[in-house]
Amino acid sequence: VKLVAVVGASLAGLSSARALREQGFDGRLVIVGAERHRPYDRPPLSKEFLGGTASEADLTLESDDEDLDAEWRLGTMVTSLEAGSRLSLSDGSTLSVDGIVLATGAQPRRLPQMDQLAGLHLLRTLEDARALRADLKPGARLVVVGAGFIGAEVASTASGLGVDVTVLEAATSPLAGAIGEQMGQVVSGLHADHGVTLRCGVGVAAIEGEDHVSGVRLADGTLVPADVVLVGVGVKPTTDWLAGSDIDIADGVLCDAYGATSVEHVVAVGDCSTWYDPATRRHQRLEHWTAARERAGIAVATLLSGGTDQRVGRPPYFWSDQYGGRIQFTGHITGHDEVTVDEGSIAERDFVAVYRRAGEPVGVIAVNRGKAFTRWRRQLAQHAAANAHSRAEE
Ligand SMILES: Cc1cc2nc3c(=O)[nH]c(=O)nc-3n(C[C@H](O)[C@H](O)[C@H](O)COP(=O)(O)OP(=O)(O)OC[C@H]3O[C@@H](n4cnc5c(N)ncnc54)[C@H](O)[C@@H]3O)c2cc1C
Repeated sequence: VKLVAVVGASLAGLSSARALREQGFDGRLVIVGAERHRPYDRPPLSKEFLGGTASEADLTLESDDEDLDAEWRLGTMVTSLEAGSRLSLSDGSTLSVDGIVLATGAQPRRLPQMDQLAGLHLLRTLEDARALRADLKPGARLVVVGAGFIGAEVASTASGLGVDVTVLEAATSPLAGAIGEQMGQVVSGLHADHGVTLRCGVGVAAIEGEDHVSGVRLADGTLVPADVVLVGVGVKPTTDWLAGSDIDIADGVLCDAYGATSVEHVVAVGDCSTWYDPATRRHQRLEHWTAARERAGIAVATLLSGGTDQRVGRPPYFWSDQYGGRIQFTGHITGHDEVTVDEGSIAERDFVAVYRRAGEPVGVIAVNRGKAFTRWRRQLAQHAAANAHSRAEE
């Protein structure tokens, strides 16, 4: 392999570039990124950066002395992939490469009736966060559409800034897809603890306003007045540009358990990809920081070895910081038949709960109990590695 292109210059792209060099790739490395910025970290955009306790300089993902000997093409999009190796770029140039890492991430979903209005926000990029931050003035009324992690974190940060916050959620319980209904309700109880109104089971009909948002019209006709609205209704993987290539797509770039796509010499990692997970025998797209970072090494090993180096990853993991506390989750909820609190207490918002399937632990969630969680996470990872090993021997 002489020339590798990494498409996407954020966490998954940077981690892949690092892994390429760490794993001995000494050829030409081109990193193409649509954003003008060097790689920066997104989690603080809804937390410290939004709250004003972290600066733009704090967001950098690179260290000062880092030199990957790469050609960075920032502010440039890759517009198509042909014949599995020819990339067209938005600056009119083309690249013929021997290997590709797809790391194009995801973009926030919009509501169908979403016009351009001042005070109406999405949150994914540094520009989004700057704009939202400027609008979060004490006493302002913020309506958050969607009680997922982004919505919950923005609600938490905004309420800390003295903003009056209402969160609207279409489902009867938030976060059910990520952590199950029972724990979704527990975690969403944090909003009420901190004076934030959460309304579940409400449909949004329209965001209203002339030039500036004035409120959110609900499906039942009532208007929730707002000075600022954040729409946090999930993301979609950035894969449109791959239409017409031979890359198989299904809610993300379809990959095996090692990041290989349907096209030879092309791997995918991070929010744009949906990897096969042997533990659940399904493809699952993870939208988590740790997956983007850790799986880069696996995908790169797959690329450089032509698929013979099959590294086993750790079970999925994510964290979310809300209202001064930390929620952590690892593993799966697929097919669990019970969730029990094994340490601490829900009422105290300080606990570890374990998801089990037929008595076997499959997932763990903790609120404000990092040490115990880390112990559980290690156990679950060992268990998963042993299972993967025995499956490989079958
Ligand atoms: C506000 C916020 C808070 C978060 N908080 C947490 C958290 O607390 N915990 C957690 O686990 N996760 C969190 N996440 C998720 C985490 O940040 C993502 O999982 C991670 O950023 C994924 O990295 P990625 O490189 O795959 O994708 P992205 O970070 O989306 O980067 C993809 C990059 O590719 C570029 N690109 C797209 N298409 C092209 C193209 N055709 N050509 C060139 N470049 C292209 C994009 O512009 C972008 O820069 C948060 C995300 C956000 C937005």
